Amino acid sequence: MLKVLKFGGSSLADAPHFRQVAEIIRADASRRFVIPSAPGKRYKEDEKVTDLLYRCYDMAIGGQDITPVFERIKNRYREIIRDLQLDLSLEAEFDSIFLLISEAVGRDYAASRGEYLNGRILARYLGYDFIDAKDVIFFRDNGTLDSDRTNAVLSAALEAHEHAVIPGFYGSMPNGTIKTFSRGGSDISGAIVARAAGADLYENWTDVSGFLMADPRCVEDPMPIDVITYKELRELSYMGASVLHEDAVFPVRAAGISINILNTNKPEDAGTMIVPVAPATASERIITGIAGKIGFSIISVEKDMMNAEIGFGRRVLETLEVNGVSFEHLPSGIDTMSVIVKTSELEGKRNTVMDSIFKLTNADAITIEDGIAMLAVVGRGMIRSKGTAARIFSALAKASINIKMIDQGSSELNIIIGVEESDYINAIRAIYREFVC
Ligand code: ASP
Repeated sequence: MLKVLKFGGSSLADAPHFRQVAEIIRADASRRFVIPSAPGKRYKEDEKVTDLLYRCYDMAIGGQDITPVFERIKNRYREIIRDLQLDLSLEAEFDSIFLLISEAVGRDYAASRGEYLNGRILARYLGYDFIDAKDVIFFRDNGTLDSDRTNAVLSAALEAHEHAVIPGFYGSMPNGTIKTFSRGGSDISGAIVARAAGADLYENWTDVSGFLMADPRCVEDPMPIDVITYKELRELSYMGASVLHEDAVFPVRAAGISINILNTNKPEDAGTMIVPVAPATASERIITGIAGKIGFSIISVEKDMMNAEIGFGRRVLETLEVNGVSFEHLPSGIDTMSVIVKTSELEGKRNTVMDSIFKLTNADAITIEDGIAMLAVVGRGMIRSKGTAARIFSALAKASINIKMIDQGSSELNIIIGVEESDYINAIRAIYREFVC
């Protein structure tokens, strides 16, 4: 058994959390490779080290002295080292990082130092080897991950270590400079290490006990999700669930490795298991989760006999492509076709998009309706239970919610519903109540 563990910033924000993390790691001999984030917030108004580093870089670019902000960063690490009573000095590192950030050598370099320094401390505290991510995680010139090279070099490196700490969030470009993933990217580093190590499990330790069935800002005390498949998670995360970086699933999913989302502050909680295929023992719920987002627009294109006109849909989509607008959903009727897009995608392009659809399709009418919220009701249980859609729609009708759009994927894994933004929270509540309470 081999486990790879990633700890988020709040799990490594101060010395007490480091102790908690070490206890978790030592409780299980199969926990061999650890990926730390940079120190996160210790309290609500606190600032993440990564944010401070970005600020230093911006100040340096603006010709300002970074000393006051950099001093705060140094003190965060000094405090951890002191409280853990470690025989480690990072002062020489601080000096060279200070110089390079002052010279504004690179935004990604600056940001990556948060994970690098935290990794150095964690490795020393655990007595594990330190593997610098720049030597084992590689990007291509176009900025995408070079999976093949990374996997080959990283697997070989891991084989040489019984235990190791590999800092999250960054790797290197072909010319050796540092590049980071997007924010929250240590989740991706963890997944990459899990795959290269051939792990049995990727444990992602954070400050919540896994995913909840609905947003707690919409539903009071929602139930946790015990098991979710990769496919279901895609449908939910796409709509805005935020515990795990969206791109973190790909490396592990491809390798058939499950992810366990766990809570550093409540290590006894089972958390959420993200699995390729749900085991027979998993809960029998019809609905796994409900997620949603506001800020969508519906572009409706009407044309008589549209259904008989070959190439109509392509022409509508072509106008979006030409205008650089990406679409989310595409429900259509006999003489109408609707395209759901994020309202932000239309910024500054509304009239051009309308004009080019008119021109290319000869449509009878085109309207754009803003203020739409989209809900995804997701569940692998839907496929074996009849009447799920009916239950959803009658729950919404009972709550006097007008449905603007419906889209069910043929996988029967999700039902997407568009409602007015003002109905958004009530719609989530109504569906949750129908299936959970
Ligand atoms: N420290 C980085 C961030 O704040 C990466 C991470 O925590 O995953 O985005």
